[in-house]
Amino acid sequence: MVLARLTAGVFLGVLSAGALAAAPEAPLIAIDVGHSLAKPGSTSARGRPEFEFNRELAAAVDRALHLYGFRTQLIGEQGDMTGLTDRTKAAAGADFFLSIHHDSVQPQYLQTWIVGEEKQKWTDRFSGYSLFVSRKNQHLKKSLACAQAIGEAMRMAGQTPSLHHAEPIKGENRPLADKINGVYYFDDLVVLKTASSPAVLVEAGIIVNKHDELGLREPATKRRIAFAIASGLRDCLNAPATISGRG
Ligand SMILES: [Zn+2]
Repeated sequence: MVLARLTAGVFLGVLSAGALAAAPEAPLIAIDVGHSLAKPGSTSARGRPEFEFNRELAAAVDRALHLYGFRTQLIGEQGDMTGLTDRTKAAAGADFFLSIHHDSVQPQYLQTWIVGEEKQKWTDRFSGYSLFVSRKNQHLKKSLACAQAIGEAMRMAGQTPSLHHAEPIKGENRPLADKINGVYYFDDLVVLKTASSPAVLVEAGIIVNKHDELGLREPATKRRIAFAIASGLRDCLNAPATISGRG
């Protein structure tokens, strides 16, 4: 990861001098920004909608993927995409579908506190990232390989997997595909099973954890996670060795 960051820094200098376009044959990654302005997903411990976290991280992932030589396509970044299958239809020409989300927990674990004048919900019981693949996706083997590569890169970047989705309770009980790397099967996640390419959904962190929320808001954390995701995809998709990108 240190190497990745140094490499990125070196190439940022190159890019600012003259942006390079990704090679036309470079894999195209669809980056799906989870949720929308109208339905913003979960709410952080301090009352911030998940969609805002997803949009910011997706932008960082977009930059990191370009630096690693990929082409990208952002989906739902304007916050106006509400249909789940519209997302995978929009990604029909992509080589990989990457859905960006931030996580919550089951309601029985949440406590309330007052932030400003508003009552908000939080827990410190769970922490970390989770990755999901669907066994109904036509490219399960590649989806799983990429989720494992992303998980490994996340761990190398100092992130820890959360295993709370495997707890045998209502709403969870997800089978682990790779416990070490934090990868689960979630067969009926619509965007994963309807994607025509390999697909992974990333829950980058738990925003109802009030300590983790602060970290996830930090630009340095977003960059670290974004480069972990990009280096995982580079490993599993055998992206071109030459790093290029746009400014
Ligand atoms: Zn979400």
